[in-house]
Amino acid sequence: MTEGIVTLSVRNYFAVMKEIHLSDARDVLKKYWGYDTFRKGQEKAIQSVIDGNDTLVLFPTGGGKSLCYQVPALLFDGLTLVISPLVALMQDQVDQLNRLGIRATFLNSTISYREVEQRLVNARNGMYKLLYIAPERLNTDLWKAEQQGLKIDLIAIDEAHCVSEWGHDFRPAYRTIREGLKEIDKDVRWLALTATATPEVKKDLLKVLEFSEPTIITGGFKRENLNWWVIKSEQKQKKLKKTVHKASKMGSGIIYSSTRKDCERWAQIFTAEGVPAKAYHAGLSSEEREKVQNEWIDDTIPLVTATNAFGMGIDKPNCRYVVHYTLPFSLEAYYQEAGRAGRDGEISYPILIYREADYEILKERIERSYPDYDVLRKVYDALCDSLNLAVGSEHQESEALELDEMQKRTGMSKQKIKASFTVLERLGVINQYDLFKPELGIQFLVSRDYLIDQIDQMKPKKGDFLDRLVRLYGPASFHEMKFLNEEMILEKLKVEPNQMRKGLTVLSEYDQILTFKMRGMSTMIRVCEHRMQKLHIDQKRAYHYKEVLLKKLHYMNRYAATSHCRELFLRTYFGETNCEPCGKCDNCLSGNNKIKEIQSEDVERVVECMKDQKRSISELSKLTGWKTSKLKRVLNHLEREEQIMKVEESMDENIYRLSMR
Ligand SMILES: [Zn+2]
Repeated sequence: MTEGIVTLSVRNYFAVMKEIHLSDARDVLKKYWGYDTFRKGQEKAIQSVIDGNDTLVLFPTGGGKSLCYQVPALLFDGLTLVISPLVALMQDQVDQLNRLGIRATFLNSTISYREVEQRLVNARNGMYKLLYIAPERLNTDLWKAEQQGLKIDLIAIDEAHCVSEWGHDFRPAYRTIREGLKEIDKDVRWLALTATATPEVKKDLLKVLEFSEPTIITGGFKRENLNWWVIKSEQKQKKLKKTVHKASKMGSGIIYSSTRKDCERWAQIFTAEGVPAKAYHAGLSSEEREKVQNEWIDDTIPLVTATNAFGMGIDKPNCRYVVHYTLPFSLEAYYQEAGRAGRDGEISYPILIYREADYEILKERIERSYPDYDVLRKVYDALCDSLNLAVGSEHQESEALELDEMQKRTGMSKQKIKASFTVLERLGVINQYDLFKPELGIQFLVSRDYLIDQIDQMKPKKGDFLDRLVRLYGPASFHEMKFLNEEMILEKLKVEPNQMRKGLTVLSEYDQILTFKMRGMSTMIRVCEHRMQKLHIDQKRAYHYKEVLLKKLHYMNRYAATSHCRELFLRTYFGETNCEPCGKCDNCLSGNNKIKEIQSEDVERVVECMKDQKRSISELSKLTGWKTSKLKRVLNHLEREEQIMKVEESMDENIYRLSMR
């Protein structure tokens, strides 16, 4: 574990003003969570927040990041604003807090305008301690009008790597967070949190968030109980089978694969071969997904075959192995997914099954997701046309996107159109977000006459329900599935959602007279500025992110291909220095990674260079003429022997001096 830079000037007037102490934080922890002590790093983070320093927390997944803002939230009088990109997880987090007796709520695209209004009024009246918000919300008129009335003490930015275009998960709305909150910026504490940030990302996010003299607390990326493993083979299927049969003897696990079809197929194969498995992917309904998740958590099924959507927000301590059957796009993603193994501290295995061609395939996929300038232009024109937006005029409100129509107008694939939108959004040309408006689709499977006949013979309540449904959905629903707004139907039928679901299930499964389906996510889109005669964009900026993604993939591939220590590779990638080979990954064990002996003349040479002054690594490298790798090895040795000491540790490099004897 290494601790990062600690700021010199402490703006502790916040603490003085309110006299909040760390002991208060411990009391809160005990009262609400029942723990006696904080984990390593948490206390430092909370102290820094109390003191009013801009704080950046870098803890790996499962390292207890959220307590770093949830505990302070309860120490302050006002509100803690939590900015989070994970719309799907907000509800869960808020539910968890409510169960602990902590008042919290969230604002995102899944709730109606009226509900947002209501929650903001409640927040103004001090009804919540925490308010979770999606970054896109900060740009809405409603938020802008209401924010002045809120008394905000702390702003916590979760998944803060989304701020950076160097991050693996860039979200344009994150870049304008600081700008958007300018009006309420005074006397507010800032805290940013992430599980994965390379030195580049760290630098960028501190700049974008305008953190001055920040306290940076890092938990380190070493996980003692994880044995990193890569299996290189052209016969991946065979290797996967062998691996899972061996690993499943230790306990439960996950296989990550890129397609739904693969997930389904492997679940079938392993179940047939004696390792009960279930697939998990976006094609399942949320109920089905929840079921799979729960069965895995309570050990009913030992194996889940999943796309990368699986595992976020799940804390299962005894997952023994995580196999990646396809190469992830970045080490950030890989570290996060693989890190779901061994939360309980027992020996566990993150395993990557790899062949060289995987890299080329993914590279091509990134290339494809960045359409040429001509394509962007065409999509832009087609979008403006379909929105009836004349050149020079401005688009007022977001509208639901009709992908089918766009396809007709452009003659392009949906995939290409969506990719173009993503690029245009990143450039600020358009704005898009998902809106959840649940719709219920019904198709009757029998003739109208037969149905009316049936209604007469049913019990009055059931017959009445069915009769109203037929009237609402009309004749068309006898030929094809027709979708209607769910809220409207509930209102007209005067039933509760679960009653309706129950009724429909009986009619479909028992009576077999209809089938039904839920849907409801639609993408809302808005052209941000007045329509241009011809789309004009900064091409360098447009394709910059593609270069970032390609670079990240390149490092992912290097991890798979390296013959040196895997753990060392990961930790160095995330900016740790002075790491040593782990001695337990596949490379360390195969002896590919022999630890080189330190020569005494090399040691003397370095000591000589440092005789009268402190030296940075780059200075020493110039003086000795050695490669940094060799130099670091010698410095490590000297530090262990306590002959030298680190006097400064910074993002770029460390500075050493000789120890006093
Ligand atoms: Zn190793």
